Amino acid sequence: MSKYNPYDNFLDVLQQAASEIQLESNDYETIKYPERELKVSIPIEMDDGTLRVFEGYRVQHSTLRGPGKGGIRYHPDVNIDEVKALAAWMTFKCAVVNIPYGGAKGGITVDPKTLSFNELKRLTRRYTAMILPLIGPERDIPAPDVGTNAQVMDWIMDTYSIMKGYTVPGVVTGKHIDIGGSLGRAEATGRGVMIITEEMLTKLGKRPIDCKIAIQGMGNVGGISAKLFASIGCKITAISNVSGGLYCADGLDIPEIMEFVKTSPITEYKRKGVKHITNRELLTSDCDVLVLAALENQITAEIAHLVKAKMIVEGANGPTTVEADKILNDKEIIVVPDILANAGGVVVSYCEWVQNLQSLNWDENDVNITLKKVMIRAFDSVYEITKKRGIPMRLAAYIVALERLCVSRNLRGIFP
Ligand code: NAD
Repeated sequence: MSKYNPYDNFLDVLQQAASEIQLESNDYETIKYPERELKVSIPIEMDDGTLRVFEGYRVQHSTLRGPGKGGIRYHPDVNIDEVKALAAWMTFKCAVVNIPYGGAKGGITVDPKTLSFNELKRLTRRYTAMILPLIGPERDIPAPDVGTNAQVMDWIMDTYSIMKGYTVPGVVTGKHIDIGGSLGRAEATGRGVMIITEEMLTKLGKRPIDCKIAIQGMGNVGGISAKLFASIGCKITAISNVSGGLYCADGLDIPEIMEFVKTSPITEYKRKGVKHITNRELLTSDCDVLVLAALENQITAEIAHLVKAKMIVEGANGPTTVEADKILNDKEIIVVPDILANAGGVVVSYCEWVQNLQSLNWDENDVNITLKKVMIRAFDSVYEITKKRGIPMRLAAYIVALERLCVSRNLRGIFP
């Protein structure tokens, strides 16, 4: 079996969408390649006095519709193909929700859990200094992703600002509120996942509270989705993190579990009726809705044959392989694609950036109202194409984005 390459996964879907709408080859060629790729070697003095050199990246896939936008990932598996794919998915995500951004992504090949607080700070500051020519509020605006958080964004903002000689809050989103972060940003991706799930279920004539929901991942996206679904009375039958999962046919106590895993491994959680399961068992568990909120390449062809959910919601980026997608489609399992389902984070990042540029602070309610409006509008535009063309939602979402990208490209033309 060939090695999974997420950028090939992106190109495969792009090709399908392009042929569905008979895209001009010039349009296709400009969107196929990332605009810029930067690789950096980051030397860091460790706490014990030794020196280690880490590899980092920043890729801008497209700035056709506005500045590059996308998170920064700290994970041992980060590599150039993953960063390129994540950057391209950002281009399509921002176009689907119709916000004036292109797509970018960055990352460092590191397990942040193995570094001390000060090592992490030095790594982040040095990485920021090395990608400095590429980023900026009008150029490319990073945000948190797997392995990074508000603290990392604060350090990036500070490093960039010190280099510029004045404070530039709009260079990153996902900062702490006190230094220019937006209310509602931390919950935005999870909230977006819930909004899109509710919209899809409504189209199917179902209510979330009548559904059994399984969630893979308990971080920013999965943990917050789980809490929000639980808060409206949904039954979460399974949840997992990298160490393992839990299952209860009558529904898990999500607030209690989220508190428990803050201090103890999930494997030590014991309650009557709660079974310990593997991630594979979670993915193939008996449920109505399966929310994927961990990493890429989770639903492979082999797993797809075993999936029992009637609907999959991609909170993570690229969790389903192209081969798996075909199998799920044949099984008539609805897949709500990543570039729509997890766009809530970038929508509220956009709200944060707008507030930073105007030195304003919006109320949380205003942020959440904007998020809901933008997500429902995006859902409707994708759903309309799905119905009109009789195609899966992923293809429809790519078509919505592609058409918007082509309008920009044709109006701007090609320089020189
Ligand atoms: P996170 O680091 O906060 O959480 C990741 C979770 O997945 C953790 O609970 C981890 O234990 C779990 N996990 C990792 N490997 C796993 C495995 N093999 N099996 C089961 N669980 C596993 O990350 P996050 O910010 O929640 O991001 C998750 C996904 O969502 C990523 O694909 C990311 O790119 C995407 N995403 C995040 C945001 C955001 O705002 N944070 C926005 C859009 C998309």
